[in-house]
Amino acid sequence: MNIDLSLAEGLKTPFYLYDVSILNRTLQEINKCIAGKPIKVHYAVKANCNPRILSLIAEAGLGADCVSGREVSAAIKAGFNPDDICYAGVGKTDRELILAMKSGIAYLNVESIEELEVLDNLALEFGYRPNICLRVNPNIDAHTHQYITTGLQENKFGINLAMLDEAVELARNAKSLNLIGLHFHIGSQITDMTPFALLCNKVNELVDYFQKKGVNFRVINVGGGLGIDYDDPDANPIPDFKNYFDTLLKNLKIHEGQEIHCELGRAVVAQCGSLISRVTFVKKGVNRKFIILDAGMNDLIRPALYGAHHKIQNVSVDLSDSESKPATDIYDVAGPICESSDVFGKDEELPVTVRGDIFALRSAGAYAECMASTYNIRPIPETIFVD
Ligand SMILES: *Cc1c(COP(=O)(O)O)cnc(C)c1O
Repeated sequence: MNIDLSLAEGLKTPFYLYDVSILNRTLQEINKCIAGKPIKVHYAVKANCNPRILSLIAEAGLGADCVSGREVSAAIKAGFNPDDICYAGVGKTDRELILAMKSGIAYLNVESIEELEVLDNLALEFGYRPNICLRVNPNIDAHTHQYITTGLQENKFGINLAMLDEAVELARNAKSLNLIGLHFHIGSQITDMTPFALLCNKVNELVDYFQKKGVNFRVINVGGGLGIDYDDPDANPIPDFKNYFDTLLKNLKIHEGQEIHCELGRAVVAQCGSLISRVTFVKKGVNRKFIILDAGMNDLIRPALYGAHHKIQNVSVDLSDSESKPATDIYDVAGPICESSDVFGKDEELPVTVRGDIFALRSAGAYAECMASTYNIRPIPETIFVD
């Protein structure tokens, strides 16, 4: 990632820095991997809904996967074709369901029998006939953090396998719905391909099962979840999309006329962003040294929310001209927020740091800006784009 220290001169920190060239290379790699294959990628808007990021992704030809009515509107505004938009969510309100139908999006992913009934009645009342996929909870463990596992029976998402027969019957007999497919999403930050392969086997089983009952699905949406390298973003700025798509192509029995849809969020945008911050204090504790940044958990909540770790870099020292390896020390790196969980790293070996140094919290292109809050009446950071 291209971090130019002069950018921080005179700029108010913290800010989100986006490297457009990394995003574009990532999008090119995705397009290269799926060229000529029956795969369509929908970008999961919730990972980063910055309008400029959305426009760049729309220009690259990806679709959009939304999880709220306002995401549907934002995607359309950014240039995504409604035909390329799908919409999931366990708690879509009547307003959101109507907005989605009115916008003419490709399909809605329906997450319960209760939602199916409400949507059918609204569609009839307002004169729409939306395409739907049923979101299935496949009871597959993504072996990721418990807060980002979504495909287990105990999670709130999707329709349980035991209820799927009934849901398919209801959807086929609905007055105003077109059942076109099945949708799955098992979790996030998945770097081992085994859960995806297990998901593919489950999909094959279900497709065969329903085919025998005379039900054919045109769309199989396997969701998102491909992880990225948070430890070494410079070595792996672009996730291993080839391995991911090969896993799908190798394990899915794709029927004639069937389309495979994916919904990648983090893997598309995480590595193009950093949160740039300035050291407010280097504070001595009893047996510890603390680096207190001017960025906090309200600017990047993943460490506090999931115990996640973003690579922490002292940009001022890393970019200095010195030939020799800089002296280091061990620090806890924290933000200014009045919460003990406002910590970005413990026992970090970092170059000897002084007040005023510029820090980068790396891989902050996904689930950072879009999750920012004004806690402690702090402003939402600015965004800076570089090529
Ligand atoms: C969050 C989400 C995604 C994207 O997940 P990533 O891990 O960012 O790829 C895809 N589909 C649905 C339904 C989601 O909720």
